[in-house]
Amino acid sequence: MCLKPARANRMVLWVALAATALLAMAAMVFGGCQPKGEPAPDNQLEAVRQRGYLVIGCKYDSPPFGYLDTDGHVKGFEIDLGRLLADKVLGDPNAVKFVQVNTSTRIAALDAKHVDLVLATMTITEERKEKVTFSPTYYTAAQAVMVKADSAYRRVADLDGKPVAFVLGATSEARLKKNIPQAKLLGFKATTEAFSAFNAGRAQAFSTDDSILYGFVSEYCGVKLLEDRLSEEPYGMAFRKDDSAKPLVAAVSSALEQLLAAGEVAQLKAKWMRTNPPDTCAKP
Ligand code: GLU
Repeated sequence: MCLKPARANRMVLWVALAATALLAMAAMVFGGCQPKGEPAPDNQLEAVRQRGYLVIGCKYDSPPFGYLDTDGHVKGFEIDLGRLLADKVLGDPNAVKFVQVNTSTRIAALDAKHVDLVLATMTITEERKEKVTFSPTYYTAAQAVMVKADSAYRRVADLDGKPVAFVLGATSEARLKKNIPQAKLLGFKATTEAFSAFNAGRAQAFSTDDSILYGFVSEYCGVKLLEDRLSEEPYGMAFRKDDSAKPLVAAVSSALEQLLAAGEVAQLKAKWMRTNPPDTCAKP
């Protein structure tokens, strides 16, 4: 076959374009769009490394773990821990973006892929393990009950039949139902909302983890915790429960274990945890 030069050039161009398209398709199908030797794209750790930062779901309503300060910045034990983990996993304590979650939205935020992991006072429970994968424990709290310091309540049982505030989606609800079945339980979306309702007198008590309640004790006057504890609440970070999360779970959990072994998590506890009432009282 003999073609004219212009036609022959066009033909070469078409063949070259077709070959390039075929090669690109083959690379996508067989190589997952990745250069040879790199991990598959459905590896969440690799996705985080490519993005350059972790996206962590944290609380904005639970001092001293995560709270929005008056300067507009989110601060707390879990915020500091998130930065230490980013430093270990990505080599930069600022390679992290914090996204607000609360007790009732944190698993949905994970499922919707709004966050890579949840670091939000979340108790490791068998029921939750059906939905998420947990890291090792980084803090152990216990469910407690807060009342007004001048009230006559001494034991949790004294609150049966009374209005008691709790946070929706928290482990505390089930234990309250078991321990004080006649109590009128009032559920709130945010920890700060539950505390404000209790502090304003809409509930006789507020029950959640002692570690969170102490955050309010150390800021507001006239409130105290009853001595009874209803449960142990080991906190773990939560990850999506699928295979693509496994390398991220392994990397973050190993970073956490190093921080625990080096005493850095204990240092955060010493920095943030207070159990005494404040010198000056905050307004609710
Ligand atoms: N740690 C408990 C839970 O995971 C209660 C505190 C919270 O609201 O996160 O349900």
